[in-house]
Amino acid sequence: MHDVIIIGAGPAGLSTAFWCDELGLDTLVLEQADAVGGQLHRVYNPINNYLGLKARNGEELLERFAADVDNADFDLWTQTSITSADLKARRIALASGEELQSIAIVIATGVRPRELGVPGEKELAGKGMIESATRDRQLFAGHDVCVVGGGDAAVENALLLAEVCPTVTLVHRGKKLRARSEFTEQLQALHCITVFTESVLTRIIGDERAEAVEIQRKQGLKPFQLAVRGVLIRIGVEPNTDLFKGQLETDEGGYVVVNSQQETNVPMVFAVGDVANPVAPTISGATGAGATAAKVIASRFTR
Ligand SMILES: Cc1cc2nc3c(=O)[nH]c(=O)nc-3n(C[C@H](O)[C@H](O)[C@H](O)COP(=O)(O)OP(=O)(O)OC[C@H]3O[C@@H](n4cnc5c(N)ncnc54)[C@H](O)[C@@H]3O)c2cc1C
Repeated sequence: MHDVIIIGAGPAGLSTAFWCDELGLDTLVLEQADAVGGQLHRVYNPINNYLGLKARNGEELLERFAADVDNADFDLWTQTSITSADLKARRIALASGEELQSIAIVIATGVRPRELGVPGEKELAGKGMIESATRDRQLFAGHDVCVVGGGDAAVENALLLAEVCPTVTLVHRGKKLRARSEFTEQLQALHCITVFTESVLTRIIGDERAEAVEIQRKQGLKPFQLAVRGVLIRIGVEPNTDLFKGQLETDEGGYVVVNSQQETNVPMVFAVGDVANPVAPTISGATGAGATAAKVIASRFTR
């Protein structure tokens, strides 16, 4: 029996654990990945918006977090697969067969990139699917590429690719791009970027590597093929809440609903970070929510 079990070791889970330790709570963190850090492993851009700290990328910020985490006294199990979580009973079953119980559970499972779900997307992973323009654009220099999405992330990545690629085709389902005007104005000034709105990417074609995409402009029209060497998909994210389905209140997007104390509607079950923050996900928001949850949990313990 632990005081607190935290599921997920991204910035939110790590901050919660750090604070729980500071407040004298016996804490166990369960992380499914090989290492802690969550989305920080995919942040290739400089982080200039975390008050008091600057980092060249997510890995560098994580190194700073790790220095504190290593000195804290909580249990951390990585590569841990949870098969079921009974939130009301606060009981967790692991794939190893082990059963765990705690007085409080903190859900810090974050979000994952939304997939298009089209043929070729999975098959060509690592063979032309671009994860990040910041990281990968030199690999695609001199080649035509396609970007899917219409928000800030899609347009920013298209602009970065346009620095090195002869043509960038941006495919967006909606009528208008949703990206901020700072990005769309730059986009309009670049002749090498073609924007297809009200269009969907229906297939990524290639055997050994991506060679073309199939695009359908407006419903009913015949799709056409476009030769490209790289495809970058930025169509948003979805919360990692499958494990808790039907057990607690979520919004229409599947995000966990919490109050200002990070409490869910299940007693002694809390949610922190992106999994409970559909509107303004940030590293500072995630670490702050972790601190709040830990302090609220500590206040409930009467020893
Ligand atoms: C490209 C990019 C750039 C960004 N740039 C910035 C920036 O400049 N500034 C900023 O403030 N924010 C930025 N962000 C957002 C920031 O990274 C997130 O807000 C932050 O990582 C959220 O932390 P989190 O702990 O809530 O979730 P995550 O980082 O998503 O971590 C969740 C963790 O939970 C684990 N997990 C999930 N399900 C389970 C399960 N069932 N069992 C066990 N473990 C599980 C995951 O493996 C992961 O380790 C950026 C994000 C991206 C992708």
